[in-house]
Amino acid sequence: RKITIAIDGFSSCGKSTMAKDLAREIGYIYIDSGAMYRAVTLYCIENGLLHNGQIDVEKLRNEIDNLHITFRPNAETNRPDTYLNGMNVESKIRTMEVSSHVSPVAALDFVREAMVKQQQEMGRKKGIVMDGRDIGTTVFPDAELKIFVTASPEIRAQRRYDELKAKGQAVDFDEILENVKQRDYIDQHREVSPLRKADDALLLDNSHLTIEQQKEWLAEQFAR
Ligand code: C5P
Repeated sequence: RKITIAIDGFSSCGKSTMAKDLAREIGYIYIDSGAMYRAVTLYCIENGLLHNGQIDVEKLRNEIDNLHITFRPNAETNRPDTYLNGMNVESKIRTMEVSSHVSPVAALDFVREAMVKQQQEMGRKKGIVMDGRDIGTTVFPDAELKIFVTASPEIRAQRRYDELKAKGQAVDFDEILENVKQRDYIDQHREVSPLRKADDALLLDNSHLTIEQQKEWLAEQFAR
C-alpha cells in the first residue's frame, strides 16, 4: 500500500536530500514544493514584476493562473528538473537572487492558493514524497508519515555555502546566513500557513548528523 510522505522544515536543513533519497529508495515520486515558489519568483524577476524588492502584487495576481509548474526526471543529476510553462528553469531558480526574494512571494495568499492546488493535484495518486514548509499542515494534513527537520542556522548556512560553492557560484557566508535567518523569520511569521511543525510530525534535528546517520534514523521510523 502506497502512502503520502510530507517532509517539512527550515531552509537548507537537508529536507530535500532526505526526501529525494527516500523517494528513490522506495520508488515514490519526489516533489520539491519550494522549487514551485522559486519558479514563481523567477517569473516575477524576468517579467518586471519585482522592482527594488517590491512585488507588483496586482499584476502577479492576474497572471498567477497562467504559471504552470511541472517536474521531469533528469537522469544525470538523479533529481527532477523544474519546468515553468514548459521551460527548464532548474538552474535559474537556485541562485541567491531568487533565494533572497522568494519568501515574500511565497507569503502572498493567492500564490499559495495556486501552488497548493497544483501540489494537491500532483499528490492525488499516493506514492509521493513532498518537501516544503506547509506540506504536513496544509497541503496533505492526512499524510500517513510526516517529518519535521531542523538544524541550527549556522550549520544550515554552512551547508548551503558548501553546496553553492561546489556549483561554482560566488558566495559569501555572512550573506547566506543572513538569507537563511531572514527566510526562517518570514516563513514563520506570514499570515497564511506559516512554517510550523504539524502536531503529528516526527521531529528530527540533524545539526550533528551525517547523511548516513540521517538515513539510519529514517529507516528506524519505517521499521516502527
Ligand atoms: O525549500 P526551498 O528553500 O527551496 O524553498 C524556497 C522558499 O519557498 C522558502 O524559503 C519558503 O519561503 C517558500 N516555501 C513555502 N512553502 C513551501 C515550500 C517553500 O513557502 N511548501
